[in-house]
Amino acid sequence: MKKTALVNGKIITPLRLIEDGTIIIKDDTIMDFGFKDQTPIPEDAVVIDVNQAYISPGFIDLHIHGSWGGDVMSASEDDLVKMATGLVKCGVTSFLPTTLSGSLTELRKIATCVEEMRKVNGGAKLIGLHLEGPYLNLKQVGAQNPKYIIRPNPADYLPLFTEYSCIKRVSAAPEIPGGMELGRELKRRGIIASIAHSNAVYQEVLAAVENGYTHATHIFSGMSSVQRVEAYRVTGVLESVLLLEELTTEIIADGHHLPPSLIRLVLKSKGLDRVCLVTDAMSAAGLGPGDYNLGGLEVVVEDLVPEIFEIKTQKGNYVAKLSDRSAFASSVATMDRMIRNMVEFVGLNLPEAVRLATINPARMQKLDHQVGVIAKGMKADLTVFNTEVDILLTMVDGQVVYKNK
Ligand SMILES: [Zn+2]
Repeated sequence: MKKTALVNGKIITPLRLIEDGTIIIKDDTIMDFGFKDQTPIPEDAVVIDVNQAYISPGFIDLHIHGSWGGDVMSASEDDLVKMATGLVKCGVTSFLPTTLSGSLTELRKIATCVEEMRKVNGGAKLIGLHLEGPYLNLKQVGAQNPKYIIRPNPADYLPLFTEYSCIKRVSAAPEIPGGMELGRELKRRGIIASIAHSNAVYQEVLAAVENGYTHATHIFSGMSSVQRVEAYRVTGVLESVLLLEELTTEIIADGHHLPPSLIRLVLKSKGLDRVCLVTDAMSAAGLGPGDYNLGGLEVVVEDLVPEIFEIKTQKGNYVAKLSDRSAFASSVATMDRMIRNMVEFVGLNLPEAVRLATINPARMQKLDHQVGVIAKGMKADLTVFNTEVDILLTMVDGQVVYKNK
């Protein structure tokens, strides 16, 4: 039995901030935490002094296609290991590898890979697989390859879901033929159904909620918004998500995808409990600026923003664009930087920003009995950082997996 004590930390649980706190860990579990003078340290514990740094639950990324040179679509264990071991440097302790639309054969290969490796030594945990596509609306296809977009057919997806218990979330367009039936099946199996790349109108979004959809993928991207038909205004997915309490959503807060005003609008409508941060990142995340090839596309990673953009994004807030700079090509965001952005650009305090990357995604993915909050009996998935959100140390299941030198 191994005991560890983290001492001299400012603990962000994240429901409260405990200045000068101690956390006691036994094996992979948090045994106790609280103010220093009320939390005795067992004699046989290894003591780690964090010198007044912040300690929060490890970050959880529910939507990520790649990072640190690893790409989910390559269906390779090596690539998943690259992601898992790179992500802990950004404070991430759990992630949901996410596919793009591909052939069913390709998706099966990836699922096989994820099914076999839930835990990576020295890395973040794979909490399952997120299928983004292929059941999308061609009118909102975005950067997904239209060649692979298909209609949901139970003959395809029933065996897929049965064979691969790692599938934990599916992002789909509910309004396409078969989309509602898919939602019911996902709900029945406890898989999160998320509205994505969807051209639905308000009535269809309501039907989607009735048929099991609970979340909306990257708000403002790949979704319809209000349109005028003859003399009438027709509400789209965007306004429906802002309006409907039943739906949670996610934002890419990389300082490029959404200006602070739109992020504030989302938070004002949804509140601090119904939104999570996701990176939606691709393989170049974590690697820095330069020219990359993304699935055959020439892509440039840079931190420049056009004159009209609301903020002068700071150095190091990178984004990937097609080489002619006409569109974003996924993102190269990292979770630590997005938390910093939420504080610096959007005006949240640190515990509020941390909620969006910990307890909220844990609830949305139904993992909050294990991770996402610092409490007795929870997994010891923790990250330690300074005021600038530079990650100093990350712990997964009670093991230190990253230490900044
Ligand atoms: Zn995505």
